[in-house]
Amino acid sequence: MRCTSVKPGVECAFMTAKGCGYKGGICQQIIEQCSGCGRQGQYSSGWYCTACPDPSSKWRNGICNLATHVSATVSAPESKQKINPLKASKRAAGK
Ligand code: SF4
Repeated sequence: MRCTSVKPGVECAFMTAKGCGYKGGICQQIIEQCSGCGRQGQYSSGWYCTACPDPSSKWRNGICNLATHVSATVSAPESKQKINPLKASKRAAGK
C-alpha cells in the first residue's frame, strides 16, 4: 500500500488502511553512515532510506547490508581442519 505519512506515494509493506504499521508508526531518517548511499531519498519530510524504515538498525551490527557506497568484506574463517603432518608430507611428495 502507498505511504501516506513521511514518504507519500511510495509503495510500502508496512502501510495499511489503518496507517503505518512500523514501530512508532513512522520511518526513521537516515543517519550519518548513510551519507553517499544510493538508496537515500529526499522527501518533503526529510531524508529517508528507500529500502528500510530504520537505518540505524541496519548499522547496529556493522555495515549496512543494503548500502551501495560501502561493502562489507566477509573474511573466510580459518580452516579448523586438522592436518596429519605425515600424510601432508606424503601428499606433498606426490606419493
Ligand atoms: S541502504 Fe543502508 S546505508 Fe543506504 S540509506 Fe538505507 S540504511 Fe542507509
